[in-house]
Amino acid sequence: MLVKIKCPECETEGSFSLADPVYEGPYRCWKCRALFSIKLEDNKLEFIESISEEEFNRQMEIQALRSRFKK
Ligand SMILES: [Zn+2]
Repeated sequence: MLVKIKCPECETEGSFSLADPVYEGPYRCWKCRALFSIKLEDNKLEFIESISEEEFNRQMEIQALRSRFKK
């Protein structure tokens, strides 16, 4: 499933591929490289906020851990 996410910084639309209809975690704009924390529900963007690189890296680690536990 591909979800379109509009970057609040530069208004560029990026697509985000999802395995589940619900996602909570990091997102990086492919154009301006801005970092965000996003929340998706039923393939729709529910929440987006900009975060620091530190926070982004932390969330990436959490995502990696989660996908490891799924297997
Ligand atoms: Zn952007």
